[in-house]
Amino acid sequence: MYLILFGAPGVGKGTQAKLISKHFNIPQISTGDMLREAVHLQSPLGKKAGELMAHGKLVPDDIILELIRERITRQDCADGFILDGYPRTMIQAEELDALMIELKLPVFRCIEIVVPDAEIIRRLVHRRVCEHCASDYNLITNPPPPSLLCPHCGGRIIQRKDDNEHTIAHRLEVYHEYTRPIKDYYMSRAHFYTVHGMQDIEKVQEQIFALIH
Ligand code: AMP
Repeated sequence: MYLILFGAPGVGKGTQAKLISKHFNIPQISTGDMLREAVHLQSPLGKKAGELMAHGKLVPDDIILELIRERITRQDCADGFILDGYPRTMIQAEELDALMIELKLPVFRCIEIVVPDAEIIRRLVHRRVCEHCASDYNLITNPPPPSLLCPHCGGRIIQRKDDNEHTIAHRLEVYHEYTRPIKDYYMSRAHFYTVHGMQDIEKVQEQIFALIH
């Protein structure tokens, strides 16, 4: 299965991608997680990307394409994968189409998750994440343990640098300007679906799984 989870930051793409990944045994490919890993390792890519990410700006398309190409040609992607946070610009969407043709991949299904901006801001300012395994917590709905150590992997639970109100507002602007237009591009094709994200995680999951089946 080849799936794009589409939507603004904070709509629950990562949470749903992890559930789909576990159920169907295909990898979740989150460009955000890959970039954060590079920043953590202080690799040349991480040094380029870190500052842009901290300010909620997009990392240049050519860097992202290289990252994606390398990732989806790995062996664990042979039976499919879930894209989370990619594509994010029209250029990335067009490059993905070209890559699909080149690698002879089948047509992607694209599932959009929609949540109003005010709720996104509320979710993201309260979001905490495990530095190590990227598990999500929320101070209101799913609080981390008082030790701030992740129950899944023992990693440190932190607040992302870009999860502050100012940077979230900028990330939403970037989403509406550069990423949202991709929706029209995908809507003109088959296999584009929208799910409302203002529901329990389980309900959203149920609806996504029904679309996948
Ligand atoms: P995310 O974890 O998906 O919210 O991404 C965090 C940050 O990583 C974004 O605000 C961008 O700075 C960068 N990023 C992630 N994915 C992409 C992408 N596909 N294109 C450009 N920048 C990206």
